[in-house]
Amino acid sequence: MRKNRLNKGKYRKRNKFIIIVGMFIVCILFVGVGIKFTQRAKASSEAENNFKVQPISTDKNKIQNNTTNDQAKNNEKNTDNIKNVSSNSIDNTSSSDKNNAVNSTPSSNNSGNSEPSPPNNTMPPSGENGGSPPPPNNVEPPKNKVAYLTFDDGPSTTVTPEILDILKEENVHATFFVIGSYAEKNPDLLRREKAEGHSIGNHTYSHNYNYIYASTDNFINDLKKCDNVITSIVGDYDRSLIRFPGGSFNRQAYKQAAEAAGYRYVDWNCLNGDAEVSLASVDRLLLRFNQTFGNQDKLIILMHDAPAKKTTPKALPQIIQILKSKGYTFKGL
Ligand SMILES: [Zn+2]
Repeated sequence: MRKNRLNKGKYRKRNKFIIIVGMFIVCILFVGVGIKFTQRAKASSEAENNFKVQPISTDKNKIQNNTTNDQAKNNEKNTDNIKNVSSNSIDNTSSSDKNNAVNSTPSSNNSGNSEPSPPNNTMPPSGENGGSPPPPNNVEPPKNKVAYLTFDDGPSTTVTPEILDILKEENVHATFFVIGSYAEKNPDLLRREKAEGHSIGNHTYSHNYNYIYASTDNFINDLKKCDNVITSIVGDYDRSLIRFPGGSFNRQAYKQAAEAAGYRYVDWNCLNGDAEVSLASVDRLLLRFNQTFGNQDKLIILMHDAPAKKTTPKALPQIIQILKSKGYTFKGL
């Protein structure tokens, strides 16, 4: 009996031990499986993340590329603007002579053919993060902008009436620097110029360089002769307003003589180039206008209504539209 009891106690102890060991093994197994599972889950989620990240970053790159392209396009526009502005800023010295300003082919002013150096706001090379956007175009529009359209060497029956029609239609006023001998031939056109509110200026009677620039006396006499013709046709007008044939540039003695005689001379700071070649195309007239336009508050635009300048009126409506769109008002001198 006692032995049996002892055996039973032994068995119980052994069973307990086996159960504890078994539970321990099971626990270890569970823990091991758990860790493995967690690791796998983590690995798979990373893989998923990797898979997901890829398309997002691609889209992002696409967006960045698009932005960069847009910025590049904008930048191109800005470059064009800057190109226009820089090539447009004509100074008086570049058109310092009749030969430069009126008769020569556009050499100094025509920077359109040469590639300009890159502007300051060129996009930085697009790296992984793309470039920062270009700075805004800081060119401020000029205030109180006034355009003085001027027509020299008329009046002519072939060109002047068409110009007057356009000015009337556009409701803008201009200035006609007339040659006395032409005014004598076309007095009705001179009267029409005045009647329609345009300014009339004196551009000498003969426009003969050999004569008028042979001496200051010749120059002043030719101005007076022209003044008499104009007065005889239209009566009262601003008799002091003159323009030197070829401009006053480098004609110091003649400027002094004109001032002493009470004249005020007006040159130009913009032109359509209609005197640079025999019959300029409309495209060329617009190109030269755009090249010499500049960022100038006060524009004095040299054009011609001489008999042969038949394309000048063809480009005039577009020139007026450009000026209107940029906020210029039109005045006579
Ligand atoms: Zn002239």
